[in-house]
Amino acid sequence: FPCEVIRNFSIIAHIDHGKSTLADRLLELTGTITKKDKGLNQQVLDKLKVERERGITGLSLSFSMFHEKNGTNYLLNLIDTPGHVDFSWEVARSLAACQGALLLVDASQGVQAQSISVFHVAREKGLTIIPVLNKIDLPAAQPEIVALQMQSTFGIDPADVIQISAKSGKGVEKVLQAIIDRIPPPVGDPSVPLKGFLFDSSYDRYRGVISLMSIQGGVLRKGDKIASCHTRKKYEVTELGVMHPEEVPTDCLRPGQVGFVACSMKESAEAHIGDTFYRVGHPVEPMPGFKPAKAMVYAGIYPVESSDFLKLEESIKRLCLTDRSVEVTRETSSALGQGCRLGFLGTLHLDVFRQRLEDEHDANVIITAPTVPYQIVHRDGSTSLVSNPTDFPDPLEFASGGRVRAVLEPIVKASIIVPEKYFSAMMDLCYEHRGTDLDWHPLDPPGQAGAAPAGEDSASTATATATATTDRVLMRATLPLAEIVTDFFDKLKSRSSGFASFDYEDAGYEKGDLRKMTFLLNHKPVDALALIVHAKAVDETGRYWVEKLFKIIPRQLFEVPIQAAVGNTIIARRTLSALRADVTAGLYGGHYERKLKHLNNQKESKRKMKKVGRIDLPQEAFFDLLSSK
Ligand code: GDP
Ligand code: MG
Repeated sequence: FPCEVIRNFSIIAHIDHGKSTLADRLLELTGTITKKDKGLNQQVLDKLKVERERGITGLSLSFSMFHEKNGTNYLLNLIDTPGHVDFSWEVARSLAACQGALLLVDASQGVQAQSISVFHVAREKGLTIIPVLNKIDLPAAQPEIVALQMQSTFGIDPADVIQISAKSGKGVEKVLQAIIDRIPPPVGDPSVPLKGFLFDSSYDRYRGVISLMSIQGGVLRKGDKIASCHTRKKYEVTELGVMHPEEVPTDCLRPGQVGFVACSMKESAEAHIGDTFYRVGHPVEPMPGFKPAKAMVYAGIYPVESSDFLKLEESIKRLCLTDRSVEVTRETSSALGQGCRLGFLGTLHLDVFRQRLEDEHDANVIITAPTVPYQIVHRDGSTSLVSNPTDFPDPLEFASGGRVRAVLEPIVKASIIVPEKYFSAMMDLCYEHRGTDLDWHPLDPPGQAGAAPAGEDSASTATATATATTDRVLMRATLPLAEIVTDFFDKLKSRSSGFASFDYEDAGYEKGDLRKMTFLLNHKPVDALALIVHAKAVDETGRYWVEKLFKIIPRQLFEVPIQAAVGNTIIARRTLSALRADVTAGLYGGHYERKLKHLNNQKESKRKMKKVGRIDLPQEAFFDLLSSK
């Protein structure tokens, strides 16, 4: 296949706008899978369903298809991009393997936050954008209005917009034509040194890492010895071919082609998205813009039963074989014992990992509150990253003469799209979470229902029928990442009745007025509970957690003060009164007692108690404390 007949493209869309359905229809229309071939079809569909977790489960949606036009057979490579904001840096990398992108927008939902962020990435890369409106079969579809929205938001000519129903297949043929006609072929020279661009990877228990590569120059063959520009590690190619849609081995991959490559790569962590490979002995200039994955959310993971640590560590290691982007180190907590500190790309990533630990490894774990990485600037000018609240400097170290000059925290630029009637609720939400640089404008083109001045009758009918697609506002704000890793997204959804869509991108580090808050039981700090809190939120946070601890911790035989502190200053305090010895049996431990009794084994129940100072704390108390937000 010469370059002229190759088209490399991806589908960019907000979640649920129909990317998987369209991909499936394209495979069908090109005969890559057949409608009758139900088994395979179902298989491909299933693959597509877990696509949200892609990049985590290692399942890929990249396929090659053939399509004939005017007697020429074209090779179309659909290159997948992850659908979630946690993986936005990977989206940018995957798009580097394409020359064009289908911008897919749900005609009943309109442009959403993720449509916008991915669009900008694609435009920056100079890709040809083919606007596609999906779900025109739905009664609520408003293709004309949404097309105008795309014009005002993206500068797209409504005449270029293709209207389809991925579900029924209507209009999908036009999409294929547009891919061939509008997207330029890749450029690549078979006679130059090999340059392979790794844009995705998956893990196979028997063969190790399977990489998806786009060949930018030269020819890659089985048996070739290749090396990574990033790590300089060397590998031998054992197998290669195209995804059609399953792996089909071939002799070689030529310039402009996209295919799978199995080589002697053992761990997913070695497959860096965006890395460039060259033939050993013939180094090349790497593709620009590469940066390794960086964890943005950290949490400690501990077994509920301390004796299960080795088993837990083994499970975590196994999961990491298939997940290239989790950072793992061991850590020890005086309250929780031996555990691991894990770094994730974002909170969704953390949630999926936790879910997999529980589902696939039957692990019962305690996860400490998520923390973002803080940059500590020392007096001598050096900097260090802190990803565990325990390591955060104490107030004394900030004082003149102390070793710390400042603390920087990661911040993000957020975009929120929301119907106008929820606008003020979203403003409040942003301000509550230390939002700054708030800026907004209406999303609807002038003259449309949304932007029209409110004539009594016309306005009310418009809002009643179409809150989802008209009268919407695009808001932008700068927020500390720490503010959105907890319950921001849940609040965003509930305060907008589910209508708000949200996305964010990295915006570097900024100085933050932050404090380390510690919690003391009977005057002893409990390391696993330490938090980093903004100066203004200290009082509220202290009171909230002390109250929560007060409710969860069982009474002891002696009085137990529960305190929240910043340095030596006590922020909040409650005192658990002592139990009288004669009523111990009746009251002690409340429902924990019942749980333990159920085990009917005194020794085992003893082991489950964690000693913090002189206090016996059931492990479940930590679980209750940390598992609910
Ligand atoms: P993705 O998250 O972008 O991959 O979206 P999916 O392809 O999973 O589609 C999300 C939902 O929209 C599914 O329930 C699909 O059946 C449905 N859907 C996709 N395309 C169409 C369409 O053209 N018309 C209708 N009515 N529903 C569609
Ligand atoms: Mg999907």
